[in-house]
Amino acid sequence: MEKKVTKIGVLTSGGDAPGMNAAIRAVVRTGIYNKLEVFGIMRGYMGMIDDDIFKMESKSVANIIQRGGTILKTARCKEFYTPEGRKAAYKNLKKHGINGLVIIGGDGSFRGAQIFSTEFDIPCIGLPGTIDKDIAGTDFTIGFDTAVNTAVQAIDKVRDTADAHDRLFIIEVMGRDSGYIALHSGVATGAENILIPEQKTDVEGVISALVEKHRRKKLVNIIVVAEGEQFGATELAKAITERLPQQEVRVTILGHIQRGGSPTCFDRLIASRMGYAAVESLMTNRFNVFIGIVNNKMHYIPLDQAVKKKQKISDDWMKIVKILSS
Ligand code: ADP
Repeated sequence: MEKKVTKIGVLTSGGDAPGMNAAIRAVVRTGIYNKLEVFGIMRGYMGMIDDDIFKMESKSVANIIQRGGTILKTARCKEFYTPEGRKAAYKNLKKHGINGLVIIGGDGSFRGAQIFSTEFDIPCIGLPGTIDKDIAGTDFTIGFDTAVNTAVQAIDKVRDTADAHDRLFIIEVMGRDSGYIALHSGVATGAENILIPEQKTDVEGVISALVEKHRRKKLVNIIVVAEGEQFGATELAKAITERLPQQEVRVTILGHIQRGGSPTCFDRLIASRMGYAAVESLMTNRFNVFIGIVNNKMHYIPLDQAVKKKQKISDDWMKIVKILSS
């Protein structure tokens, strides 16, 4: 018979994402509502190894739902890749009597949780917290909507100055090797072109489209490039300048502003639902899964399936970009 979960630990790990605080809040309050003891673990897996673990109360998560970042801090932890590191982590959890874990993070954090849960008798539940939306098996990840909205606001501003000077801006957005932030923010800002890692970059095609636009005296252009795209924003700018020397080209890298800021309503809602589902999952012995939302329903996907899958971006999207930007 499975053991009853009575004391749970919650941590945020890997890249931070807006909405992680809302998820922590949901885990803590759902846990306490169900008479579980809840422990906060600082700096992801680091805190498990360093025994940076503290008891949380309902008021520990007051006034955080609207805050970006994570009150539990996050980290990348080299020691957790080693069996010795994971053993040290286990010993500390045991010391506190923790017999269930909720890990809020990306696919790397899930991989760590999956290995840990097979080595030790501590069930783990993952919550997808990543701005990159690169976890297969869920329609949404906590933080993506906020990051896209931040990118949209920034690109709108860049377009104002691009328009004033008749310039071409190449704007690099985040997403690691996923093109979702680029695709969504690019479509929403009317970008003239969007370059993503999921599609081979046709530099000649990009340039000839610009030449054609020049012919029609369309001089203001925004090209959104995902950070994981193979050619790179700076290289693209060089290639365009060589072929179209009369076109003023600027490169803007949006960078970490996309990780910060107050989470959108949407991210707060999915973080709250997922945090609640994580605790329910532990209480009903649905162990070693991560929580996804598909067609607005909660899904419980085995952690070992949380491998980064190259998402195919449908050709329709690229057709929409082409038609709407002409
Ligand atoms: P993210 O969760 O945002 O994808 P990382 O890939 O950096 O971020 O993973 C976060 C942490 O998860 C790592 O620093 C490490 O501690 C742990 N982790 C990732 N992959 C593994 C693995 N294969 N084995 C053990 N721990 C891992």
